Order: sequence, then C-alpha cells, then structure tokens
Amino acid sequence: MSPTGVDTHVHRISNRLGWTGLKETKSPEKTREALESWLPQEQWQETNILLVGFGQTVCLPIGPKCSDCLNKDLCPYPKSQEGKKGNKKKVKKKKAQDSTSEEDEDDNGETSKYF
Ligand code: SF4
Repeated sequence: MSPTGVDTHVHRISNRLGWTGLKETKSPEKTREALESWLPQEQWQETNILLVGFGQTVCLPIGPKCSDCLNKDLCPYPKSQEGKKGNKKKVKKKKAQDSTSEEDEDDNGETSKYF
C-alpha cells in the first residue's frame, strides 16, 4: 500500500459510514491506516473503486443522496446531521471550498494504489 493516502471520496465515505472507528479521522492518511487495520487486503482495490464511484454519484461531498442510498438504514451520517443549526450556511461555504480543493486533489493524482 502506498504511503500517499487515500482518495478524498474514500476518506469522506469511510468516515460517514463509521469505518474509521469511533472518532472521525482528520486526514486521508489516517483513514488509510484505519481501513488497513481491519479490511482484508484482497478487498482494498475493489473497495477503492466502489467508493470512488459511489462518492461521485450518491455519497456526494455536499448534499449526499441519503434518501436514495441503500446504506441509509445502517449509516450513522444522516442521523448525525439532524437538527444541526446553520447547516445551510455551512454547506454553502463548504461547497465553495470543496469544489476547488477536490478538483486539485483529483488532478494531482496523489492517491495510493488502492485507496
Ligand atoms: S446514507 Fe448518506 S452519508 Fe451514508 S453512505 Fe449513503 S449517501 Fe453516504
């Protein structure tokens, strides 16, 4: 496994699903370490491919399509967002930031072989 960290989609979705443990990981590298601690190596490549596509179509950085998601009954993320104050304002601000940073991350090719 490459030491360059995981793809931004894998980082985000793994945290939303609680795959990184009880606490949210703060960097793709920490997410990679968390995933490697329990996910069998033979599943790393397929999981990476699935999560990247899933992150581009359903579990979007802003406005994930939780109501259409097959994971909605087991994923803790939708409940964690209920009743959050000022969510719309924060979402707008984060969307502006993410649209730039995600493009940069995707374009520089700094992802590991699997994650
Ligand atoms: S329920 Fe929402 S946050 Fe959880 S995996 Fe599905 S789209 Fe992502």
